[in-house]
Amino acid sequence: MHHFVPHRIRETMRPFFAYGIVDGVKPGQGGRARLAVMTLADQTRSDTDVLIAGGGFAGLTLAIALRRALGSSFAVTVADPALDKSHAGDERASAIVAAARRLFEALGVWQRVADEAQPILDMVVTDSRLNDAVRPVFLSFGGEIEPGEPFAHMVENRLLVDALESKARDCGVELLAGAVKAISPPPASGPRIVATLADGGAIAARLLVAADGARSTIRQSAGIATHGWNYGQSAIAINVEHERDHGGRAEEHFLPAGPFAILPLKGRRSSIVWTEHTQEAERIAALPDEAFHAELERRFKLHLGEIQVIGTRRVHPLGFFVARSFIAERIALVGDAAHVIHPIAGQGLNMGLKDAAALAEVIVDAARLGLDPGAADVLDRYQRWRRFDTMAMGLATDGLNRLFSNRSDVLRLARDVGLGMVERLPALKRFFVREAAGLTGQTPKLLRGQLP
Ligand SMILES: Cc1cc2nc3c(=O)[nH]c(=O)nc-3n(C[C@H](O)[C@H](O)[C@H](O)COP(=O)(O)OP(=O)(O)OC[C@H]3O[C@@H](n4cnc5c(N)ncnc54)[C@H](O)[C@@H]3O)c2cc1C
Repeated sequence: MHHFVPHRIRETMRPFFAYGIVDGVKPGQGGRARLAVMTLADQTRSDTDVLIAGGGFAGLTLAIALRRALGSSFAVTVADPALDKSHAGDERASAIVAAARRLFEALGVWQRVADEAQPILDMVVTDSRLNDAVRPVFLSFGGEIEPGEPFAHMVENRLLVDALESKARDCGVELLAGAVKAISPPPASGPRIVATLADGGAIAARLLVAADGARSTIRQSAGIATHGWNYGQSAIAINVEHERDHGGRAEEHFLPAGPFAILPLKGRRSSIVWTEHTQEAERIAALPDEAFHAELERRFKLHLGEIQVIGTRRVHPLGFFVARSFIAERIALVGDAAHVIHPIAGQGLNMGLKDAAALAEVIVDAARLGLDPGAADVLDRYQRWRRFDTMAMGLATDGLNRLFSNRSDVLRLARDVGLGMVERLPALKRFFVREAAGLTGQTPKLLRGQLP
C-alpha cells in the first residue's frame, strides 16, 4: 500500500524518533554505542539527495562511494532495521574477488578487514559421485591473477558489514535504524520520491535506492516483477575447524546433488557451502550432531584431519531471478534486490558490488555537472550498464548448475572433457580466472581501484 506524504507537509508531521548518526562524529569512536537518538525535528531537513533502503554490502558500499566522491554537500542516508543490531553469531563468509577487493581498497574499507581476510592461494575442482573413494582433479589453478594479487579472499560477512558501517559513519552518511515500509511516487515527474519508515516518519529523496535484499519491499512497492525460478536445491552453510592447515586451498566438489564447496578461513577453519535437493538439505540439517557429522565427513573426507562444526547450521533455499527492470521513476535497484543467482560460482555479492560501483559512477557524473541524480536518463545509463551483464552472469551460473547438478553420465563426460580442455589451455584458463575475479568486461572505475 502506498502512503503518499507530500514533501510540503512533512514539517507539520509530528516529530518521529529514529536512531541516527549525525555528520561529524569522530572516526574510530566506539561501534553501535555511538548511535544517537534523533528526531525528525532535529534534522536540518528530512530531505536527502540519495536515500538507500538497506545497509547490507551493496547499500553501504554505494553510500560510502557517493560521499567519498561528492563530499559533504551531497547528503546520503541509509535506512535499515539491522543497523542497531549486532551481527555477532552470524558466521557466514563470502569470497571477495580481486575486483571487489580493489573497490574496498579505494573506499578505505579493505584496510579494516585485511588482517582477517584469508587469501585463496589455490583452487581445485573435482567432479565425482558421493561414494567415489578418489576424486580426480579436473581443474586447478594457482590463486594469483597478478604476482602477489590473489584471485579472491574469504572474509566473514559480519566483519565486512561492520567495517562498511563504521566507514559509512566516518564519511558522514546518515544512518537510520528503521525499515522503509512504503513509497509514494513523485507527483507527475516531481523532484522527489517520499519513503515512509516503519515508525511512521517520512524522508524525501531525489533518488531512492533499493538495496533491501532478495525480498525487496521497494521492488514490490514499485510494482517491478521478477523472472526466474527456484532450483529445488538449498545450501547448508556451516563453518568447520580442522586439524591440519588448509594452506589457502579452496575446493569445489561437483557431486550429483549439487556443488560442495570448502572455502578457507583464517586459522584452521573453513566455510562450507553444501548444496542438496531442498528436502534432503532440510533432513540433513535437522539431524542430531553425530549423524550430521557422518554426512558431512562423507563429503568433506579426511584430508584435513578431524573436523568439527563451529556455530550454527543454516539452510538457504536457492533460486535465480532478475528484476524485469532495474529502475523505476526515481528508483534504482542494486544487489540482491535486483538479482539473485546460484552461489555455485560465489558471485552474488560481487555482482551487487558491481551494481553499487556502476550506480555510484553515473550519479557522480551527473552530480558533478549539476544534474539531478534521480533523472530518468541517469537511471537509464545505470540500467543499460548492469542489466545485460547481470543476465549473462545469471545464465552462466544457471548453466553451470544444470550441467553439474545431475546424475547423467553423458553430461558428466561432456563436462569432464570441457574442464579437461580448460585445464590444458593456459590462455583459456587465465581468461576464466580473470572473468571470475571480476576483471573483464566494462568494469566500473571503483572495481579498478579508482574513485568515480
Ligand atoms: C549460501 C550462500 C553463499 C553465498 N556465498 C557468496 C560468496 O561466496 N560470494 C558472493 O559474492 N556472494 C555469495 N552469496 C550471495 C550474497 O550473500 C548476496 O548476494 C549478498 O548478501 C547480497 O547483498 P545485498 O547488500 O544486496 O543484500 P543483503 O545482504 O540481503 O542486505 C539487505 C539489507 O537490507 C535490509 N532490509 C531489508 N528490508 C528492508 C527495508 N524494508 N528497509 C530497509 N532495509 C531493509 C536488511 O536488513 C539487510 O541488511 C552467497 C549466498 C548464499 C545463499
